[in-house]
Amino acid sequence: MTLLELEDVTAFYGSVQVLEGVSLSVPEGGAVGILGANGAGKTTTLRAISGTVRAGGRITFAGENIRGTRPDRVAGLGIAHVPEGRGTLGGLTVRENLRVGAYLRKDRRSIAADIDYCLDLFPQLKDRISSAASALSGGEQQMLAVGRAFMAKPRLLLLDEASLGLAPSTARNVYAAIRRLREESGIAMLIVEQNATLAFSLVDTATVLETGRTVLTGTSDELKGMDEIRRAYLGG
Ligand code: ATP
Repeated sequence: MTLLELEDVTAFYGSVQVLEGVSLSVPEGGAVGILGANGAGKTTTLRAISGTVRAGGRITFAGENIRGTRPDRVAGLGIAHVPEGRGTLGGLTVRENLRVGAYLRKDRRSIAADIDYCLDLFPQLKDRISSAASALSGGEQQMLAVGRAFMAKPRLLLLDEASLGLAPSTARNVYAAIRRLREESGIAMLIVEQNATLAFSLVDTATVLETGRTVLTGTSDELKGMDEIRRAYLGG
């Protein structure tokens, strides 16, 4: 079943149109990637979904039209956005950040169990549980950002450039944990990732954007087999 569907989505910063027609769909429990050059509109596509940029076209989530819906209400519907730059609260501790992620939940008992799950998923955070988020390394902050989004118990996770600025081994660790999270939680994922090798390690299908438009959609295997994708995104 389709969880999220974008049809001919447009978006604007002021009067400047940066998305011209983005179409993609994410099935329940599926993982979909968005590929594209710098400035193609990948980040803006995620913002259109989470309601942080003015958008046109159709955005349907769980059968409901959510285009133009306020960001807090989008979050309440079950969409968690991990933005580029992570968005953790630097002055709060790791534990406090995880609790903030759960702020819309009423099931107090399972919140504690879910914090334990995050610490199992990202063991590096265990020793830092009482440290301020601002004192963490880049990799630890990314782990915390994903953990915080998980704490909202979303149906869909929007993940923007999770590997940005991380050492290759750290980026691989973060993706391994996200793969595990996907398998164990069934949360659907829509990810923007410059590192296509990492993206293809997680997603089933991907959509390629060029100057604000969907130009290609295929399974990971189909896309990896295409010369132009290999040249543009896989360094070969
Ligand atoms: P990158 O990988 O560089 O982040 P992207 O594919 O995510 O690229 P977007 O960040 O969505 O691209 O940007 C799409 C276009 O919108 C670019 O031309 C960018 O310069 C422009 N843009 C992004 N943010 C703003 C903003 N706040 N105001 C005006 N224009 C913006």
